[in-house]
Amino acid sequence: MFLKDRTALVTGSTSGIGLAYARALAAEGANVVINGFGDADAIERERAGIEKDFKVKARYSAANMMKPDEIAAMVAEAEKEFGAIDILVNNAGIQHVAPVEEFPIEKWDQIIAINLSSAFHATRAALPKMKAKGWGRIINTASAHAFVASPFKSAYVAAKHGIAGFTKTVALEVATNGITVNAIAPGYVWTPLVEKQIPDTMKARNMTKEQVINDVLLLAQPTKEFVTVEQVAALAVFLCTDAAKSITGTTLPMDGGWTAA
Ligand code: NAD
Repeated sequence: MFLKDRTALVTGSTSGIGLAYARALAAEGANVVINGFGDADAIERERAGIEKDFKVKARYSAANMMKPDEIAAMVAEAEKEFGAIDILVNNAGIQHVAPVEEFPIEKWDQIIAINLSSAFHATRAALPKMKAKGWGRIINTASAHAFVASPFKSAYVAAKHGIAGFTKTVALEVATNGITVNAIAPGYVWTPLVEKQIPDTMKARNMTKEQVINDVLLLAQPTKEFVTVEQVAALAVFLCTDAAKSITGTTLPMDGGWTAA
């Protein structure tokens, strides 16, 4: 329970990796603010489940990560209730798969806004209170696509490379403030985001579902296994420990060897 009396805000945490981060941080005693879209009853079950399972406070913000004013309001509300956000996890993300010349302009704008700019808006809003406390952890979810590309994912790859650069820059700016800033770069993790891109990839590459899983998704992952959300969340918890206080400005791969190739 080394995070007792800390507060974590995790964007995009109503499912997948984000929910695993929220639960893992709560398991160490942190109060959490979850955020994201989905069925209201299902979200309430997740929120109440965190409180019940870990005896912490869990709040939900419906802020849309495409909207800077809603992001600022989410941070302000969390600070009003908890004093400061000690751990900010910028995780919300979406995907769209299409050849660049057919890539819908509004999808490009959405992906850049949610996967990249929302991290800027949340960090910008949360940093002053973190600096005042002299302790903080900012953890951004990047991707193996922060290091390498795949065809038909121009917006996602651009946003994730951007996250790696943003992570380095902020880490340098706050290096003497007791705040570390890192990104985690998972390979393929089995979550709704991956499941949802299978039909588009089937269409773009004219493949069956099995072919997409084995010949596209896991083709790049030498272990031939999906990363699990629990593994990603465990790395985030480690980044919050004192042992990790000298790790800053990095984008840490957890990709079954993908970017070693
Ligand atoms: P997911 O679809 O399960 O979760 C995405 C979360 O973001 C959900 O809670 C969703 O409601 C939320 N979200 C989407 N749009 C939003 C918006 N406008 N405002 C607020 N919340 C919004 O996906 P996931 O796989 O858990 O992805 C989480 C992060 O991990 C993303 O940044 C993704 O790029 C990254 N990632 C995923 C994988 C993978 O293989 N699944 C690999 C590398 C990186």
